[in-house]
Amino acid sequence: MTSSPTSPVAVLDSVFGYDSFRGDQAEIIDHVVSGGDAVVLMPTGGGKSLCYQVPSLVRPGTGVVVSPLIALMQDQVDALAALGVRAAFLNSTLDSRTSAAVEADLLAGRLDLLYLAPERLVQERTLRLLDRARLALFAIDEAHCVSQWGHDFRTDYLGLSVLHERFPTVPRIALTATATRATHEELTSRLRMEGARHFVASFDRPNIRYRIVEKQQPRAQLLQFLRTEHPGDAGIVYCLSRRSVDQTAEALRAAGIDALAYHAGLTEQERAERQARFLREDGVVMVATIAFGMGIDKPDVRFVAHLDLPKSVEGYYQETGRAGRDGLPATAWMAYGLSDVVQLRRMIDQSEGSEAHKRSQRSHLDAMLALCETLGCRRQQILRYFGQDSPPCGNCDTCLEPPAGWDATVPVQKLLSAIIRLDRERGQRFGAGQIVDVLRGKDNPRSAQADHAALSVWGIGADLDEQAWRAVIRQVLARDLIAAVGDYGTLVVTEKAGPVLRGEERIELRKPSGTGAGARSRARG
Ligand code: ADP
Ligand code: ZN
Repeated sequence: MTSSPTSPVAVLDSVFGYDSFRGDQAEIIDHVVSGGDAVVLMPTGGGKSLCYQVPSLVRPGTGVVVSPLIALMQDQVDALAALGVRAAFLNSTLDSRTSAAVEADLLAGRLDLLYLAPERLVQERTLRLLDRARLALFAIDEAHCVSQWGHDFRTDYLGLSVLHERFPTVPRIALTATATRATHEELTSRLRMEGARHFVASFDRPNIRYRIVEKQQPRAQLLQFLRTEHPGDAGIVYCLSRRSVDQTAEALRAAGIDALAYHAGLTEQERAERQARFLREDGVVMVATIAFGMGIDKPDVRFVAHLDLPKSVEGYYQETGRAGRDGLPATAWMAYGLSDVVQLRRMIDQSEGSEAHKRSQRSHLDAMLALCETLGCRRQQILRYFGQDSPPCGNCDTCLEPPAGWDATVPVQKLLSAIIRLDRERGQRFGAGQIVDVLRGKDNPRSAQADHAALSVWGIGADLDEQAWRAVIRQVLARDLIAAVGDYGTLVVTEKAGPVLRGEERIELRKPSGTGAGARSRARG
């Protein structure tokens, strides 16, 4: 490639082999080519890369791409080199001789694109190097990493505001797939992009079918899902802990599925090898913590499964967005249960952060819980979260099999009363298991010892089975009528429960799934 002036469409065709731009790409590229700053919010798979690659080739000089994804830089540069684009990267993995060669290429105008890790860019030495080079633009990829309240915060991103003062004539384009209004505003101000033009693409991923099932035996449920819906397909299974990643991968392998584990406890080399297998081979299932996936461009990921609840809708959207980048049907499947709510709430309560930070994490989690418990269209709820209106989609579980709601006011009153009585009359607080046994009048050693059978609430909920009660508790927790506190997740009633106890508020809950006639018919007690 030479850097002689050509049109964006000509570059799209001759370099990338595509015949037309998608969505806002043409407009974004024109704007940046003519020297404007741009903030681009586009979902994963939307085609953000071309928005800076094409202008870097059209404008004279080198396009500098800031990316936190050091592990992917080599792949990105190789892929560009295969297209004849002169690309290189500078990060901590290079030895000094290679670095020096890259720097010489930059200064001699022999690079179309240069990828830089943020910590490298903000060094004075690098800034002085860039002072001496001819620059086409700065692209700030994964720009939401500058948001301190977001889920991917990187301190070095804060230093990127310096670009505005130091290189006022070089256009900047910030890109992210995270699009809440708060993140958008925060990255705009922190990166000093107030004068930029904003391009906000639709966040709908119509080919992804969203499904959230009630967690019972998660690994068996996952296996059933893979066997019936995605045999032989490539996909990602997310788990919260390294231990559960290892165990799940093992269980899948035992069941004959080509599954690999991926988490931060592995060596860098193990991770690189497994990632390479996932990218290059067909039908590999990657079982991973969320350490895996950022920036992974594998178009034919047919499913993303969550065995644990993500901490926010942004996280869920980003992780599920790795499915179906080729536009063909894909599934976002999640198993979600009472323990997820208790565990994530506890993680927030016990975290080190400031009160403000915890408040923000709680509200992220609450939005995620609302998505799990909704009786309406999942997609509609996700898009509404990103500030976009849309009709019910017809391609999510709640659209395809609308869940029944049931009037759970009386059971919820019984639950609240049981928690209150145990606390007031006995000074005892318990987790969900013991509360359910009291409601169902089911003897256990602890009840016998404390003579719970003498309480007025003993057995008042015998008409619902244990699973139905757990579903009630989960939904009531999700609505903040009760809270699970302390190391053992003991249940306490919150001030929001008052109107329900007084009969001033009706509670409609999702009927537990897979129970046909509903919870009542399954009652044993
Ligand atoms: P993002 O960074 O937004 O997740 P990418 O830039 O990786 O998305 O693009 C996703 C996929 O779509 C890539 O395989 C890319 O080559 C392809 N793509 C992007 N723009 C176009 C286009 N205009 N025509 C055809 N394919 C495109
Ligand atoms: Zn829907």
